[in-house]
Amino acid sequence: MPTFVRTDKCDGCKGQDKTACMYICPHDLMKLDKDGCETGHAMRAFNQEPEQCWECYSCVKICPQQAIECRAYADIVPMGGSVQPLRGTDSIVWTIKFRNGNLKRFKFPIRTTAEGSIDPYADKAAADLSKIGNSGYFTTNFEPQKSGDPSKLIRK
Ligand code: SF4
Ligand code: SF4
Repeated sequence: MPTFVRTDKCDGCKGQDKTACMYICPHDLMKLDKDGCETGHAMRAFNQEPEQCWECYSCVKICPQQAIECRAYADIVPMGGSVQPLRGTDSIVWTIKFRNGNLKRFKFPIRTTAEGSIDPYADKAAADLSKIGNSGYFTTNFEPQKSGDPSKLIRK
């Protein structure tokens, strides 16, 4: 089920050129309706191609107003319920609301390092462009392709 925006909560990321949901969507689906000509709700975002949404929840998690909802998967939320994440710097809390009003909350850690502290290439060798035609990645030393040794693969 695709995402939808709660127009009563969305503030258009306070009129920034690129809203948080537009920035994060890997499929470029979210759009800010600046003057309301597309949805009737000025300065509110909307999912412009719901059928293309792969329900990755990225926009749901990044929205600072918790204005985006995704109709939840039936295996985690029974029919008529809702699920809403609240992301912090070191954890995320998922709130499940059942149709009878019951609430359940689950909190999970999301990182072990300080936000912004990761340098993904810190201990990697610099790329050697003379090997650009070789197979493999610059971060690994690949040996030429060779056939496997079955005696090492088949366990008796
Ligand atoms: S991230 Fe949330 S508040 Fe910002 S424009 Fe998108 S839906 Fe609205
Ligand atoms: S759930 Fe994922 S694919 Fe769908 S609109 Fe949000 S960010 Fe884009």
